[in-house]
Amino acid sequence: FVSIRNLRKSYGSFEALRGIDLDVAKGEVVCVIGPSGSGKSTLIRCINRLESFSPESEIRVDGIPVATGRALARVRAEVGMVFQSFNLFPHLTVRENVMLAPRKVRGTPRAEAAARADQLLSRVGIADQADKYPEHLSGGQQQRVAIARALAMDPQVMLFDEPTSALDPEMVGEVLDVMRDLARTGVTMIVVTHEMGFASQVADRVIFMDGGQIVEQGPPAQLLTHPVEQRTRNFLGAVL
Ligand code: ATP
Ligand code: MG
Repeated sequence: FVSIRNLRKSYGSFEALRGIDLDVAKGEVVCVIGPSGSGKSTLIRCINRLESFSPESEIRVDGIPVATGRALARVRAEVGMVFQSFNLFPHLTVRENVMLAPRKVRGTPRAEAAARADQLLSRVGIADQADKYPEHLSGGQQQRVAIARALAMDPQVMLFDEPTSALDPEMVGEVLDVMRDLARTGVTMIVVTHEMGFASQVADRVIFMDGGQIVEQGPPAQLLTHPVEQRTRNFLGAVL
């Protein structure tokens, strides 16, 4: 469903991604792990072209090439993204944050967008916060608003870049629970994470990146407990 061929990305003379090949099936949950600077964020940011990439590279989402112009707009409508920093609009209430994209991009009528927002907010467990402004929410609540906001466009794929890294430890669980529910409902997900427990329980496949390349990948039971490559072993030895 997401198909990546020979993905290369340089910053000046520095190669951040050095030839990534990756296919993610519809409904699959893929967790991406690896040391700082290995290219994890760059990889997922290329999927909706928040980063440009080398012309010989090819990325397709649902068969649509991630290019420019109209095709890019179609891809972006299918891809939801959640960042480490929640990036909510501070001057909008929680409900308005979730309504914004459907209103602006799709022209969804206000009442319909509001009803859908409330439905999504209850799905992520914060229906009671809808009228508050983001600054009055805990970090875990804000991140759940960010997830609801991404879901409001009915994306085919959800990308997560370390969604729990900025959270106080006691709030990590509530966000992971929401993501676990999403995975269960068959949403295609690519998740950069340091949460090995989540990866081992929820991922269909774990990918270990280092130096801008995929070093090793496999089902979590295999990759996390019986890694083949020395670099994977070193990394897991340091984080587990
Ligand atoms: P982390 O776990 O710290 O988030 P990461 O695996 O997500 O790391 P990336 O953010 O993808 O790593 O960065 C990959 C490499 O590209 C790093 O060496 C980084 O310094 C470099 N890089 C990223 N963004 C830029 C940029 N805008 N300009 C120059 N170099 C960059
Ligand atoms: Mg990163």
